[in-house]
Amino acid sequence: MEKRSWAEPYKIKMVELLKMTTLEERKAAIKEAGFNTFLLKSEDVYIDLLTDSGVGAMSDQQWAGIMMGDEAYAGSRNFYHMRDTITEYYSYQFTVPTHQGRGAENILSQILIKDGDYVPGNMYFTTTRLHQEIAGGHFVDVIINEAHDPDSDHPFKGNVDIAKLDRLVNKVGAEKIPYVCIATCVNMAGGQPISLENLQAVRQWCDKHNVMLVHDMTRVAENAYFIQQRETGQQHKSVKEIVYEICALTDAATMSSKKDAMVNIGGFLAMNDATLYERACELVVVYEGLHTYGGMAGRDMEALAIGIRESVQDNHMQARIGQVAYLGKKLEDAGVPIVKPYGGHAIFLNAKAILPHIPQSQFPAQALAAALYVESGIRAMERGVVSAGRDAQTGENFMPKLELVRLTIPRRVYTQAHMDVTAESVIRVMKYASQVKGLKFTYEPKMLRFFMGRFEEVA
Ligand SMILES: *Cc1c(COP(=O)(O)O)cnc(C)c1O
Repeated sequence: MEKRSWAEPYKIKMVELLKMTTLEERKAAIKEAGFNTFLLKSEDVYIDLLTDSGVGAMSDQQWAGIMMGDEAYAGSRNFYHMRDTITEYYSYQFTVPTHQGRGAENILSQILIKDGDYVPGNMYFTTTRLHQEIAGGHFVDVIINEAHDPDSDHPFKGNVDIAKLDRLVNKVGAEKIPYVCIATCVNMAGGQPISLENLQAVRQWCDKHNVMLVHDMTRVAENAYFIQQRETGQQHKSVKEIVYEICALTDAATMSSKKDAMVNIGGFLAMNDATLYERACELVVVYEGLHTYGGMAGRDMEALAIGIRESVQDNHMQARIGQVAYLGKKLEDAGVPIVKPYGGHAIFLNAKAILPHIPQSQFPAQALAAALYVESGIRAMERGVVSAGRDAQTGENFMPKLELVRLTIPRRVYTQAHMDVTAESVIRVMKYASQVKGLKFTYEPKMLRFFMGRFEEVA
């Protein structure tokens, strides 16, 4: 059968005008921002590919839901709608709302992790690992080796290497492992999915060792779409069915609903165990708010409930991932080194390959993101040594194999023409890549330094 192009399953009802800047203005802006794209003013950005977090375009249904906010302090109608939607689509019985994903991570880590515990996961995520460490745990990476290789085209780079789990349990014992943390569509690996088969194997491993399985479900629908497209025997299922199946394999979940679920703010901690729920309710009142709003307004919980339903539609996912792949193919066709296969939420530029003259200690990905902004007003972000931070014990920089710039695509926001301009800008920077200079810190925050760190060019 002839293959049809995908197109967006929506039309545009309202637009937001963008400011165009000159090269001189952008040079001044990046200098003032300390060569950190997080410190740029949004006004000075043309196409904002910093993140896919909280920047999706809500639907008219979601905006209508905003008007239906029940802002009662306790027992808001929108909370029950959200909770029931989570049970219907994600299987979890109990839900504690939080202001965003890290609020859920904080509560979960405090409840489950004891000093000296080990928490295996399929690659770290910045805030997730930090909360595990603050609670006294050590993160242990158990993702397959292919995930660390930008040139491997393994279809499920988010998979867990069960042998690595075995090695850990043999070394420290199951009582030192409070839970295994599995992310769907692993952000730091380049938005790469885990297969259903692998997740089932992890489930079996957890059952065998009596260890809980926790799901970082921030991008579960994107992961489900990849399973439908790539995994043998899964083609007949809908994204919605696969999402449910993934969640049902796990015991609890943390969610940043600013991603998949297309709201500007919000998250939750969900679980099936009543005792865990009770303890989460005790902590949520300390850090977030009462257990029926946990840091969210009623209107935001309503928009989230509607966003969950929209996020698991096959045609939405086809357009979402289709747009990311469109950008990826343009770059690949032009010979730009990018992480393969294309991710679910982003295309990752291989900064080590694009700027081979800059040693990793001079932050090539940070420098490349700054150069791309100066070129065209496109804002990307670093995912390399700056994001990885320092080892708490030795004080040395972590030197991750992946030194990447992330072009993150917000959901339902930009057009194909924006993707064309993005690809053309990256290709132009490639042409003068050898002139891009390395960077050094002028200010280095102790934690999550990529957010507020400042740099200058190395002479
Ligand atoms: C964004 C994100 C988080 C943290 O969520 P916030 O809403 O930003 O606090 C956790 N895990 C993953 C994989 C994420 O992408």
